[in-house]
Amino acid sequence: EKKEFSENVQFKLDSYMTAVKLNEKIVPADIIERRKKLPIYTKKNELMNAIVNNHVLIIIGETGSGKTTQLPQYLKEVGLTITGRIGCTQLRRMAVKSVTKRVAQEQGCNIGEEVGYTIRFEDMTSEKTEIQYMTDGILLRECTYDKMLSNYSAVILDESHERTIDTDILLAVLKWIIRKRNDLKLIISSATLDSVKFSNYFDGATVFNISGRMFPVNIIYNPFQLYDYERSAAKTVIMINEQKERGDILVFLTGEDDIETLSDYLNYEYKPSSLHYNLKIIPVYSALPWEQQALIFEPAKKNERKVIIATNIAETSLTVDGIRYVIDSGYVKQKVYNPKKDMEVLTKVRVSQAQAIQRTGRAGRVGPGVCYRLYSQSQFDLFPSAPIPEIKRTSLTNTVLLLKKIGFINLNDIDFLDAPPTDAINFALTELELFEAIDKTGHITEIGIKMASFPLEPNLAKMLIISEVLGCTEEILTIVALLSVSNIFFRPKKKQKLADKAKSNFFTNNGDLIMMMNVYNQWHQTSQDKNWCHENFINHRMLLEANSIREQLLDIMKSRKMKLKSSFSDMTPVLKSICAGFFQNVAKKKPYLANRKKYDYITLPSNEVVFIHPGSCMHKVLPAWVVYQKVVTTSKEFMRGITPIDCSWLIEMAPSFNLQI
Ligand code: ADP
Ligand code: MG
Repeated sequence: EKKEFSENVQFKLDSYMTAVKLNEKIVPADIIERRKKLPIYTKKNELMNAIVNNHVLIIIGETGSGKTTQLPQYLKEVGLTITGRIGCTQLRRMAVKSVTKRVAQEQGCNIGEEVGYTIRFEDMTSEKTEIQYMTDGILLRECTYDKMLSNYSAVILDESHERTIDTDILLAVLKWIIRKRNDLKLIISSATLDSVKFSNYFDGATVFNISGRMFPVNIIYNPFQLYDYERSAAKTVIMINEQKERGDILVFLTGEDDIETLSDYLNYEYKPSSLHYNLKIIPVYSALPWEQQALIFEPAKKNERKVIIATNIAETSLTVDGIRYVIDSGYVKQKVYNPKKDMEVLTKVRVSQAQAIQRTGRAGRVGPGVCYRLYSQSQFDLFPSAPIPEIKRTSLTNTVLLLKKIGFINLNDIDFLDAPPTDAINFALTELELFEAIDKTGHITEIGIKMASFPLEPNLAKMLIISEVLGCTEEILTIVALLSVSNIFFRPKKKQKLADKAKSNFFTNNGDLIMMMNVYNQWHQTSQDKNWCHENFINHRMLLEANSIREQLLDIMKSRKMKLKSSFSDMTPVLKSICAGFFQNVAKKKPYLANRKKYDYITLPSNEVVFIHPGSCMHKVLPAWVVYQKVVTTSKEFMRGITPIDCSWLIEMAPSFNLQI
C-alpha cells in the first residue's frame, strides 16, 4: 500500500519536475550535509507524499527537527512555487529574520531574492520571491487587501501551539478561504500541539508526526521556595561551569531587565579561575539589535562555554545547537488584559507545564542533558497545564477592525478554535464605534477603512487621521513613529543619575510624547549625529528605526492622498490629536486631600488609581487631566507616555465617550 502511495507521488513529482527550474546556485557542501542530518529528512519522501495528497496537513515535530527551515523548501520541491508563493508564518520578528537567513543560504541566494521575508515596516521580498517568511500579523494584514490570499499557493502556519491571537484568527480565516480555494495548501505545524483538536477543527485533517532525536534529560528541582530566581540562576551557571563537564548553557529568564542583570553579573563580577571555562555570554531578547543575534549560532571556542540567556523565544522559535544544560526560572512575561479596566499589562507569570517541558527538552538535542528548574516539584504541579490562548486574554480592538476590513460583518459567523470572551468582543466593538471606525450596524466606515490601511494599532491610526483634519500630520507622524519603537531614552544601570539628568534637559510642559518629538527634531538638526545621542543618553538605533518607520507611514499617507501639514509652534492641534487616539486612557488628578498623596490619579470611567511614572516629564507638573500611552505595573500602577489635555477636548474628539465625570 505504501509503495503505491509513493509511486503516485513520484508520478506527480515527475510531471512537476519538467516545469521546475533546476537550481543552478552554488550551495556549500557542508550546508547540504547539515540539511540531510535533520530528523525531518528521514521522512522527506513520506512527507512530500502527504503534502501532495492533502489539502490541509498538520505536522508535529520536536523543536530542531527542521520544520521551519525545511518545510517551505520541500513544498518548493513539490512544485508549489509554480503557481504562487509559499508563505510561512513565525511569531517573532527575530525568528523571521534568523530563519530567512538560514534558508537563503541553503537555497544559495541572497535574502530578498528567491527567499525573502516581511515583518512590520520591513519588506525584504521581490518579484523573484518564492519562499516568504513573515510574522503571523503580516499575513493577517495581507488578508485585508487580498481576501483569498491569491498570491500564495501554500501557507504554513508555524508554531501554532503557541496560539497567538493572530495565528488563531488566521486559522479561522484560512478555514474559510480553503473552502473556496482548492488549490491552496494549508499546513499547520508545531512542536507540541493538541493535534486532535486541530485535526477536528479542520474536519479530520491528516496528522503527520516527525519523530525527533531526543536524549534523556535529568530534571533537578530546587527544593527551596526561592523567590530570587535571578540570583539562583547566577549561582547555578557558576556551579555548572565549575563542576560539570563541557556543554553550553541555556537560561530562561523573562525579559531585558533580568537578562541584562544576569549578563552583567556573569560578565563583570564573576571571574572563573584558569581551571574553568571562560563564559561567553549571549543575551537574547527582542529589543536587541539583530546583528547580535547571529552570535547565538557561533560555536564556542575551545576554552569557552556558551551561556545563552534568553526569553521564551528560545523555547521553540530559535533552535540553538549544543545545549546540554538548561536553567529554567519558571517565569515568562505575558500580556495580561483586563477588559473591565481596558488595561493591558505585561507581567511576569508562571509558565505552564507544557512550556516547562519544552524548555527542558532544549537540553536533550545533542546528547543526554540536565535541566535545573529553579522551583520545586510541588510548585511545578501547581503550574497550569497549558498556556491560555492569547485570544482569551487580550484586547481585540485591532483584530476586530481587521476582521471587519476582511469582510466579516457578523463576528458570530466566524468559526474560532477557541472563541474569544464576549466581554472583550463587545468592548472592542464599543471602542471601534467611539473611533467612528464602525457604524451602529457594525459595518466598517470610511474612517475605519483608512485606519485599517495603516500597519498600526487603531489608536495610533486614528491619531494620524485626525491630525490631517487638524493640520499637524508632520508632528503626529513623528510621534506615531516614535511610539512604534522601544524606548528612545537610554538608562544604563550604572549611570542612572547621569541619564536622568540628561533626560531632564528635554522636559517640556507639553508631556512625554512632545518631548520625544523634540528629541527627534533636535537629532535631525544635528544631521542625525550618533555622538549627540551618546552624550544625551539617547538610543541612536531607535531614532534611526523611527525615522524609517516615519518614511513608510509617509508613503502610505501620500498614496492615500492625505494632506501633509505642520502646525509649527502651535502645539494645541498636536495635543488634541493625541487626545483623539488615547481618550480611552484618560486620568484625572484626584482632589488634594491632606491624607492622600497629591500625585494620585484616577482613570475614567474605570476608576482605577494610577500614578505618574517618575521618569515622566509630567512628574512635577501634575496637570489636572492627562492621557497616557500605557500603564506599567512595578511597585505601583504607573502611567507612561503622559500628555496633558483639556477635558473639553474629550467631548470634542470622542463625542460618544461616556466619561461619567
Ligand atoms: P524546527 O522548526 O523544527 O524547530 P528549524 O528548521 O528551525 O527546526 O531548525 C533546523 C536546524 O537549523 C537547527 O539545527 C537550527 O539550529 C538550524 N538553524 C536554524 N536557523 C539557523 C541560522 N540562522 N543559523 C544557523 N543555523 C540555523
Ligand atoms: Mg520552528
